[in-house]
Amino acid sequence: MQRPEAGKPLIKFNHCKKYIYSFSMPQCCPLCGQVTGSRKLEEAPVSISDPFTNGHQEKCSFLLRPTQGTFLREYDGRSDLHVGITNTNGIVYNYTTCGVQRDEVGWEQSVSIPLLQPGMFGLMDQWDKYLEDFSATEAWLPQRYEDDHHNCYSYTLTFINCVLTAEGKEQLGKREFTEKYVVPRTRKASKYITLYRAIEERGFYVTDRPDEETNPPEGSGSC
Ligand SMILES: [Zn+2]
Repeated sequence: MQRPEAGKPLIKFNHCKKYIYSFSMPQCCPLCGQVTGSRKLEEAPVSISDPFTNGHQEKCSFLLRPTQGTFLREYDGRSDLHVGITNTNGIVYNYTTCGVQRDEVGWEQSVSIPLLQPGMFGLMDQWDKYLEDFSATEAWLPQRYEDDHHNCYSYTLTFINCVLTAEGKEQLGKREFTEKYVVPRTRKASKYITLYRAIEERGFYVTDRPDEETNPPEGSGSC
């Protein structure tokens, strides 16, 4: 079984008029070599939010992860993704060629999207039974599985639409679902992965600060 690996946290700080990303605040700036321990507020490190969460700790959520391997190690932006739905105990229901799986491990590094609006306690009480009954229907027998048309996405989308209906909301189409739920998250995850791997390789990563790029050259003010 694959070792569940949590990524190291990332930080960002200002130095040399650049943004510098790293796993931890270095003693010296990697660009100018000066000691970084200044007490200037604008040089204090800020943490970068990690787009991944342990899916087994998420209730009533939609989860996304690479079919093979993990986001931080293996994902290349085109890798196949696998999706599932958690119950209230972090068990991940997902549809595969073997039928509906109920995973207790393997989703430790997932992109997670909560499916219940805060305060929908009635629905949360029934969630596990609802998910279990839904999964037991004939639609999700192993022999019904088809790579392109009846897969893990069909399973989660059909379930999400049942929830939306129960909440009195409109259903989502496949395209809308992908654009609204999947694409923005995988895009954000891809950016984070690029940054993460660059830091792993070189120890830090540097970008221009937007305010430094847009500042007019000195003396060009109109006043
Ligand atoms: Zn510096």
